[in-house]
Amino acid sequence: MPTDFTNTRRAFHLPEGVTYLDGNSLGPMPRDAARRVADMMTDEWSQMLITGWNKAGWYVQPRKVGDRIARLIGAGPGQVVMGDTLSIKVFQAVSAARALRPDRRVILSDSGNFPSDLYVAEGLAKAVDAELRVVAPEQVADAISDDLAVLMITEVDYRTGRRHDMKALTEKAHRHGALTVWDLAHSAGAVDVDLLGCGADFAVGCTYKYLNGGPGAPAFIWTNPDLAEQAQPILQGWMGHAAPFAFDMEYRPAAGIERMRVGTPPVIAMAALDAALDVWDDVDMADLRARSIDLTQAFIAGVEANCPEVTLNSPRDPSQRGSQVSFRHPDGYAVMQALIARGVIGDFRAPDVLRFGFAPLYNDLDDVAHAVDILADILANRTWNRPDFHQKAAVT
Ligand SMILES: *Cc1c(COP(=O)(O)O)cnc(C)c1O
Repeated sequence: MPTDFTNTRRAFHLPEGVTYLDGNSLGPMPRDAARRVADMMTDEWSQMLITGWNKAGWYVQPRKVGDRIARLIGAGPGQVVMGDTLSIKVFQAVSAARALRPDRRVILSDSGNFPSDLYVAEGLAKAVDAELRVVAPEQVADAISDDLAVLMITEVDYRTGRRHDMKALTEKAHRHGALTVWDLAHSAGAVDVDLLGCGADFAVGCTYKYLNGGPGAPAFIWTNPDLAEQAQPILQGWMGHAAPFAFDMEYRPAAGIERMRVGTPPVIAMAALDAALDVWDDVDMADLRARSIDLTQAFIAGVEANCPEVTLNSPRDPSQRGSQVSFRHPDGYAVMQALIARGVIGDFRAPDVLRFGFAPLYNDLDDVAHAVDILADILANRTWNRPDFHQKAAVT
């Protein structure tokens, strides 16, 4: 049965008068999430207290929720575990990958990667005597060489929406004896990811963007089952121990993906995420991808036809693009503030990028048409050129 996107849109609370094109930063609230969190507080935390870890299944929740995400990223059951933040999961994955290639020093990434991933890899490199090598996104394939330990790539570029070829890069890395870590921050819930089909080694991602788990929702990590019993993370927390409640003095890794857990999981946040994942149950990822392409193509065509003041900053070919589109404008920050004042919410990324995320679960072609109209009006009438639209807030 084809996915019913009218139904998925109804599952979200979208404030009146708002056209939301920022689900690539923070997804909107699924209507059920508020009730689920309230139920968790009143039925579980308040009534069960510490027994909730067993009775309400809080302890096994990171795996159960992980299984629900696995289907969305082309992974199998028992292969994904939740917890911590994405930055920490990047550390877990890259450190474990490097440890599997101890005679090699190079971690390769690209300059389009999100700074936190690069900062984490740089810090790890200092600690384990490795080298972080950063090249332009177009040069990644050519930079894969025999000294490479780990290829650390974010599949979809957070600024431009450019999508790397996971299969081709993974195969090339493997031919040169390296392992791959894929960051799916802008892929999970946005495009049709196929981790097992691509033969990827490690993957990580966050759940507050296209998966709509809410601010601070836990991250996920996946290890290819062929490596899961060999991978040794550096952050050896008690929840990743083979027997956490034996309170042994020595660390022994838990079986498989469980060893990637670190400490106590964020149970309240996971309740909201679990409700958000209900919306995905009847979503076919091929339908999602087709709709994402329709939305982004229509937006590019509309903006290019009506807004000569901006230039496209995303690949034109949809096969090389994720589910977001960005345009450049010298006064991009003020233009975005003016858009937000008119109810069209995207975001701004330095130095001059207007970024728009299209989430097929709740965005439709009417949203696209409305956003194009408002943007064209703001640019043609230069209404962005007001002093208050130039004032920068802490979070852009
Ligand atoms: C959003 C994002 C992050 C954010 O990491 P947190 O630890 O969740 O704050 C990291 N990496 C990439 C590629 C991102 O897009």
